[in-house]
Amino acid sequence: MLTIKNIGELALFPPGPIGGRAMGKVERITSAAVVVDEDRIAWLGPESELDASIGGDVLNAEGGCVLPGLIDCHTHTVFAGTREHEFVRRIAGDSYEQIARDGGGIRVTVEAVRSASCDQLVELALPRLARMLRNGVTTVEIKSGYGLTVADELKMLEAIARLKKLQPIELVPTYLAAHTVPREFDGRGDAYLDAILDEKVLLRISGEGLAEFCDVFCETTAFDVAQSRRVLQAAKKFALTPKLHADQITQIGATVLAGEVGAISADHLETIDDAGIDAMKKAGCVAVLLPGCSFYLGVKQAPARRLIEANLPVALATDYNPGSAMVESLPLVMGIAATQMRMTPVETVIAVTANAAAALNRADRLGAIRVGMQADLVVLDVPNLERLVYEPGRNCVRTVIKNGSIVVSPG
Ligand SMILES: [Zn+2]
Repeated sequence: MLTIKNIGELALFPPGPIGGRAMGKVERITSAAVVVDEDRIAWLGPESELDASIGGDVLNAEGGCVLPGLIDCHTHTVFAGTREHEFVRRIAGDSYEQIARDGGGIRVTVEAVRSASCDQLVELALPRLARMLRNGVTTVEIKSGYGLTVADELKMLEAIARLKKLQPIELVPTYLAAHTVPREFDGRGDAYLDAILDEKVLLRISGEGLAEFCDVFCETTAFDVAQSRRVLQAAKKFALTPKLHADQITQIGATVLAGEVGAISADHLETIDDAGIDAMKKAGCVAVLLPGCSFYLGVKQAPARRLIEANLPVALATDYNPGSAMVESLPLVMGIAATQMRMTPVETVIAVTANAAAALNRADRLGAIRVGMQADLVVLDVPNLERLVYEPGRNCVRTVIKNGSIVVSPG
């Protein structure tokens, strides 16, 4: 038993997905307590109503706000190499196309990942995950997509599988071999898809649990709608749930495809149109927005308010990657969403908990504080959830509880 006492504000909302206006609603219990039994939440309420006979350990929240553990539902956390030279060139005005022509861009990361061993990928990712945990993140989705050969994509998924056992964050693996067409297949995207969609490969990924989801970058520079449909339908046959990088740069109908294939989420959405919104609503698709990416690239943000007004469940994630979003802090992304997309702090909290859990098919046990749900909790050093979003440049996390165990302590 673990009892958290002296909670300044306990933030309660239902499990996800939570759409539209309901994203603005939170119930707050002040002077609250939470009782954790093993890995589950056993009781919550005003501390004055706490059963005094409960034994076990006590954690003093010292008046801090308690939230569900944060969930980063879209990342590329396993990678090798960095691209700060490209970052400097972009600031100076060079376009991504120019940089790519000079051998830069995603190709640099692909070469570095191909050269790295699985062990090296694991070693590089561990400190990143440790920092995410200290920022209150208890569940992280990680995609492959920098190997771009069957062997190197499997190496990335194997690295994620090893990372699961080496640190406390729950990791959710996604097969994103259809990230871009590799150099060896220039102009032969369909032949590349033949290789990565080979039934033996998909059977192994699915059978060994190396991925739960299959993602595709549906964009003029990567895979068109017909190719993306092929990827996601092939993956579905092997129980890999579809996700898409959709409507980021150009509008080619990627979110309509998301609805058609029954994707659990469509991510990015900077150029989404009404047809895409309708398709996502009909399919019950979560809208995952990545404001850290537009912030990093200095481009237009996705229309968060329009999506919320359309009653879609909106989630937020970092898109952490070495090219377009070297941003690993989910609380910083919440701050960007508030200031640049006009999402309220309550909406940003629901977007990185209940709705992010729904985007990862985990809303039955993660993303909300309810009796019976998994005890993934964050204790802040500020008295209300607004302060977390109001101070995006400072880590406001005091204590992190994962699966009922304290994994980050003050100091
Ligand atoms: Zn991404």
